[in-house]
Amino acid sequence: MSMPTPATARAGAAALDVKRLRQDFPALKQEINGRPLAYLDNAATAQKPAAVIEAVARYYREDNSNVHRGVHTLSERATAAYEGARETMRGFVGAASTREIVFVRGTTEAINLVAQAWARPRLQPGDEILITHLEHHSNIVPWQMVCEQTGATLRVAPINACGEVRLDEFERLLGERTKLVAIGHVSNALGTINPVRQMIERAHAREVPVLVDGAQATPHMAVDVQALGADFYALSGHKMFGPTGIGVLYAREALLDAMPPWQGGGDMIKAVSFDGTVYNDLPYKFEAGTPNIGGAVGLGAAADYIAGVGQAQIAAYESDLLAYTEDRLAEVDGLRLIGTAANKAAVASFVIDGVHAHDLGTIVDHHGVAIRAGHHCAMPVMEFFGLAATARASLAFYNTREEIDALVEALREAKNIFG
Ligand code: PLP
Repeated sequence: MSMPTPATARAGAAALDVKRLRQDFPALKQEINGRPLAYLDNAATAQKPAAVIEAVARYYREDNSNVHRGVHTLSERATAAYEGARETMRGFVGAASTREIVFVRGTTEAINLVAQAWARPRLQPGDEILITHLEHHSNIVPWQMVCEQTGATLRVAPINACGEVRLDEFERLLGERTKLVAIGHVSNALGTINPVRQMIERAHAREVPVLVDGAQATPHMAVDVQALGADFYALSGHKMFGPTGIGVLYAREALLDAMPPWQGGGDMIKAVSFDGTVYNDLPYKFEAGTPNIGGAVGLGAAADYIAGVGQAQIAAYESDLLAYTEDRLAEVDGLRLIGTAANKAAVASFVIDGVHAHDLGTIVDHHGVAIRAGHHCAMPVMEFFGLAATARASLAFYNTREEIDALVEALREAKNIFG
């Protein structure tokens, strides 16, 4: 998945009416500390368009009921809304069937599900799981846990000074004992877009299945799980303008079929007796208990909203805005960009000589600018660069050059105060 060329980026920039689109996001219309809010913390969570807020509210106002159970009208409507959202998400990621779309709480839960239901029963002492040095903690800790449980070993493909995975090393680490590869699509800490298709091809050449952590990809680019060849693909609703507490695990049907359920309870069964239980069909086998119905409805609305804006236009506009951001940041005295991969999306991580990242975060907030300061749940990445923390501006298609200018002005003030 490569980013657009500068020429197409400019065309896309022209194609997106950001001023109008911003009107869709009520939270963007406020002032913070007497300045217009510049929300540049989208990698943490994105703001929600009215279409999402209204879809969730309408569901609770009019259709609220439990799914898959009742024979009454509201239950049928709730089931139709929930299953409709599943079909929307199937289309959104390009899956072959809704049987491959499991609703989960988010990327974290999706990865834990795969670790416990796919990896744990299969791993033997000496087996290996291969990840990269770029991963979010959600794509590290569940594998560490399953390695502890099974005696398997976690291997880590290193990165270079730009924050790109070293593909030669990745390939070298793919060995006889590798049972699973788990890689991020886009790094939340640095913005690096991994060449996941190429990495999947290399893993598949050795018949190793691949999980892709897509938390930071789906807000910024079109994803087609079949074109990528992903065996598992995880995403979070709240990163892609949907509600918190809802996400999707996509998994190839044959893999899900062969997996035991992860959690037991209602809805994941066909029949229960004290002699034993017959599990439900896919994907319900993996959805124990009452699901986040309103969340799924909101996620479906978010996917529809993104499709309406246009994923190609989003990618092109953001590519242009990221280039502008990095150019403007370079003007700030003593600022160093962390993460300079050739292929990046939506993230500018940086440090400024003599100013702690958290102080930067606090001072720019006085200017109404929201950025993140810290390790971004990617402590190994920080360790690689010898840093405790960075400041991070992370973009969405509703951000503007004026907001970047406000950030740069605020950073200059921080530099004057502390630097
Ligand atoms: N993976 C990446 C790359 C992320 O950026 C995040 C969240 O920041 C996650 C996984 C975890 O997502 P969630 O907290 O929605 O489960």
